[in-house]
Amino acid sequence: MNMTQGNHVTEEGYFGDFGGSYVPDQLEGVLARLHQFFQTFKDDPEFLEEYEEYLQEYVGRENPLTYAERLTTKLNGAKIYLKREDLNHTGAHKINNVIGQILLAQKMGAHRIIAETGAGQHGVATATACAMMNMDCVIYMGKEDVRRQELNVFRMELLGAEVISVEQGGGRLKDAVDEALKDFVENYESTFYLLGSAVGPHPYPSIVHHFQAVISKESKQQILLKEGRLPSAVIACVGGGSNAIGAFSHYINESDVRLIGVEPVEAATMTHGTPAVLHGFKSLCLQDEEGNPLPTESIAAGLDYPGVGPEHSSLQHTKRAEYMAVTKKEVLHAFQEVARTEGIIPALESAHAIAQVIKMAPSMDKDDILIVNLSGRGDKDVAEVKKLLEE
Ligand SMILES: *Cc1c(COP(=O)(O)O)cnc(C)c1O
Repeated sequence: MNMTQGNHVTEEGYFGDFGGSYVPDQLEGVLARLHQFFQTFKDDPEFLEEYEEYLQEYVGRENPLTYAERLTTKLNGAKIYLKREDLNHTGAHKINNVIGQILLAQKMGAHRIIAETGAGQHGVATATACAMMNMDCVIYMGKEDVRRQELNVFRMELLGAEVISVEQGGGRLKDAVDEALKDFVENYESTFYLLGSAVGPHPYPSIVHHFQAVISKESKQQILLKEGRLPSAVIACVGGGSNAIGAFSHYINESDVRLIGVEPVEAATMTHGTPAVLHGFKSLCLQDEEGNPLPTESIAAGLDYPGVGPEHSSLQHTKRAEYMAVTKKEVLHAFQEVARTEGIIPALESAHAIAQVIKMAPSMDKDDILIVNLSGRGDKDVAEVKKLLEE
């Protein structure tokens, strides 16, 4: 029962030239131990059965692959299907990975989960699953983010998590990562560091791929049942790259299926990034001439990151996947278009993938099928979109 499909990864965690582990010595041993446990349990039938039961009973999987009939008619080209990660408990794909990693943590004997969060989405998903699975939960958050995301801080506290406001440095995501890593090294026997996207040092990108692969495992079965054939393309937004790698996974070895990742032009790492080591791994990164990560400014908090998971850098390098960028205007249009034609308000992140579909579907054949990964629901973004539309 092998869940993960596709790309080859070396023992050291390299996808082609990208990935690996660039961390201090103390952390190296801790990550090696994590890798060992992951190898032991990733395809263990009992472990997977437990994981799948949580997905079914708590997350609400499998979620539908919805035919977007009105959007298809309106665009008058390829047939469009939406993979409904927005219908998961907590409203996005992040919970798939969170539950998998907590189960792994329990196998390792940890009773305490730590994570860092920027906008708060990963923090809320982690606090949610920790409450249900009876784990202590500590969320590190930069003090600036604590101030801006007051409501998410309260949500995490309601769920029983302790939110630590990080005053060091600029009080941003990077500083929260540093503090969380320090905690991890000091407390690794009792504590598990839960990473929220397909980034970070080896073995995290492989772990996140493994637990998000359920998205394409389901969508492939669903499309074969509905259409009797595979899609022409699978399209997903890319921040760190976890929903995209999950949406791509079971199609990577199907060379006739195009894989398309979509980023904001304001954070187009795949288009303008150059190779660098950032946050403990080698990948494409937006950087200035001195090698400092460039500030990004996306309207979608989940895509506002100057780096990307190493597997995506490799998929682009080998030309197995294509990466494109869409503008804020195209995203706002897509957001409203799915709301009006399909009765679904998508997350602003997911609206990036839809914006790309709106650009490409009309010139495609009516026999073509597109699967768009609707990574999350848009309730969290409604106030922001109202403000943007009024400007
Ligand atoms: C966090 C998030 C993303 C971006 O993260 P990836 O790791 O690139 O998937 C995309 N969509 C939603 C709804 C999110 O919450």
